[in-house]
Amino acid sequence: MPAFPAFPADAAPDSYRHRGQRRALVTELSRKGIRDERVLGAIGQVPRHLFFNPAFESHAYHDKAFPIGEGQTISQPYTVAYQTELLQVQPGQRVLEVGTGSGYQCAVLLTLGAEVYTIEYNRVLFERTRQRLGQLGYRGAHLFCGDGSVGLPAHAPFDRILVTAAAPALPRPLLEQLRVGGLLVVPVGSEQTQRMVRVARESAAGFAREDFAEFRFVPLLGAAGWGS
Ligand code: SAM
Repeated sequence: MPAFPAFPADAAPDSYRHRGQRRALVTELSRKGIRDERVLGAIGQVPRHLFFNPAFESHAYHDKAFPIGEGQTISQPYTVAYQTELLQVQPGQRVLEVGTGSGYQCAVLLTLGAEVYTIEYNRVLFERTRQRLGQLGYRGAHLFCGDGSVGLPAHAPFDRILVTAAAPALPRPLLEQLRVGGLLVVPVGSEQTQRMVRVARESAAGFAREDFAEFRFVPLLGAAGWGS
C-alpha cells in the first residue's frame, strides 16, 4: 500500500471526514453491483479528493465523472470499479493504462499491486498528473506522453491493458501487445455510447471477446482511435 508523505500545498490532506466519505462511496458501489473486495478495498484507500482541483474537492466522493480541464474528465467511481473488476489484476502484473487523465485510476491499479505503465495524449494533463502522483507518493508508475491507442511496443507484452477512453473498434496494436493469457478491457462503439468489451488472448492468434454494459466515455484519439 502506498504511503502519502506529502500533499499538494493547497490540497486538503486525507482526514477522518474523507475516509468516512470513501466508506460511503464503497457502500454505494457495492450496492450498484461491484463485488470484488480487492477493488472495493482499493477505492476505499485512494484519496480521490486529492486528484481534484481543491476548489471542487466537495465533488470528489459523489459517484460522478468530473471535469479535470483540457476537455477531459476523471471517470465516475462506478466506471473505475467496473473496469478494474473486469481487469482481474493480480499483484506484480504489468498493466498498461491508456488515458492517464487525473492519475486516479493509475493510483487504484498501484494500490492493487500492479506495475503500471500509463500513457496520456494531452501534454498539459500529463505534466500535471506526473507532478501530482509524485507529490502523493505514488512513485512506482511509468508515465508516458503520447498516442496510447498504439500502445507502448517497446514495453510490451502486458498482462493487462485498460483503455479509459472510447475506441471506434478494438485497437489492433493493443491486441498485439497483450501477453497470451492476458486481458484487454476497452469501451468500444460510437462517439455517443459504447459497450464495455473484454478480450482474452487465448493463444498467439486466438482472442475471445465478451461484451458487457453500456457506458459513455470521452473519445480515444490517435491512430487506432478517432484520429487527432
Ligand atoms: N483514467 C483517467 C483518470 O483516472 O482520471 C480518466 C481518463 S479520461 C476519461 C480519458 C483520458 O484519455 C483523457 O485524459 C484523454 O486525454 C486521454 N486520451 C484520449 N486519447 C488518448 C490516446 N490516444 N492516448 C492516450 N491518452 C488518450
